[in-house]
Amino acid sequence: MTASTRAAEPNGRQAPSVGAHAEKTMNSTNPSSNAIPAGATGTMRALYKHHAGPGLMLDPKRPIPAIGPRDVLVRVTHAGICGTDRHIWEWDHWAANRIPVGIVTGHEFVGVVERVGSAVGDKVKVGRRVSAEGHICSWTDYNARTGNAHIARDTKILGVDRDGVFAEFVSVPEENIWPVHPKIPDHLAAVLDPLGNAVHTVMSANVSAKTVLITGVGIIGLMAVTVAKCAGASRIFVTDVDEKRLKLARKLGAVEAYKANDPKWIEKVRAETRGDGPDVLLEMSGNPNAIDDGFRALRMGGTAALLGIPSRPISFDLSNHVIFKGATVLGINGRRMFETWYQMEEMLLSGRLELDEIVTHQIRLEDFAEGFRLMQSGEGIKIVMKI
Ligand code: ZN
Repeated sequence: MTASTRAAEPNGRQAPSVGAHAEKTMNSTNPSSNAIPAGATGTMRALYKHHAGPGLMLDPKRPIPAIGPRDVLVRVTHAGICGTDRHIWEWDHWAANRIPVGIVTGHEFVGVVERVGSAVGDKVKVGRRVSAEGHICSWTDYNARTGNAHIARDTKILGVDRDGVFAEFVSVPEENIWPVHPKIPDHLAAVLDPLGNAVHTVMSANVSAKTVLITGVGIIGLMAVTVAKCAGASRIFVTDVDEKRLKLARKLGAVEAYKANDPKWIEKVRAETRGDGPDVLLEMSGNPNAIDDGFRALRMGGTAALLGIPSRPISFDLSNHVIFKGATVLGINGRRMFETWYQMEEMLLSGRLELDEIVTHQIRLEDFAEGFRLMQSGEGIKIVMKI
């Protein structure tokens, strides 16, 4: 999910590890020894929105969620802190208008199936390591029935509209469960949700053998650099205001990283692209100036995929940026169910995604306040909590 949400191996010789921490995170497929008995109604630790204001509170005795016949109860082992969670933590305008007080937050996770409802099929077994698509719909509206469930009208989002994953247990419908490949380590499986945003954006724009400009290299923008490289982009250019992130973007495969406040950067990127401008724009910032600059830089007839969310309506030069330019503009929301998930798994298994430097910190659930501090200060990029 992105901030909008509508206001985001074993070291066998023949099986190379996908991530550096693979080995020690592999063994989470065994049912836990302290499993709760079937039908039990116990309590759990959970981070929830305790009031209509900043912060979150740890409830040591939140009731374990009930499950219906087609639901799966997952014991969460790792959860990523998203930009959306930061909005909820800071209680900004969007959060105050969207988030019900009392909700358990968080939507990026990996865990182990603890219990399944009576009607759940045999593909989802107790003990299986899983993540889940956090956009939950009834699969009955036009979009869901025509292959576009990611924009179903009745979508409810985990940790935004219903109880989420900053807790020991979460209840998710069977359809949303994503079995995690054993070669994908926990710290990466915990961030499949935002990685899926990056994969969805890149794959929508068809970047193969094309020059790509990424405006904004926050978490998902950085992921988009490595994803675009994996998807065959010829050369990747990025802009941002943060030196540290520009440097990391270069390391992940960007050939040029421009300071967004350098008045010459558009000229420079044009000079690098035969004077035409990049073929593809991936807008990941939501910043009105970055959007304007990105479209200025885009070549005539180029494609722009927009994932970043402006915090309010913006003014935009539609005539020059889209109409006269002959640009194709794509709005990107969530992840395609489940095409994006398969693409993402293949990219991870290819070993060509570099994500270890993006997941900068792993902390305990109890240290959540430090996690949000690391995120707000920019010291951390993606922070994963071990539940
Ligand atoms: Zn997210």
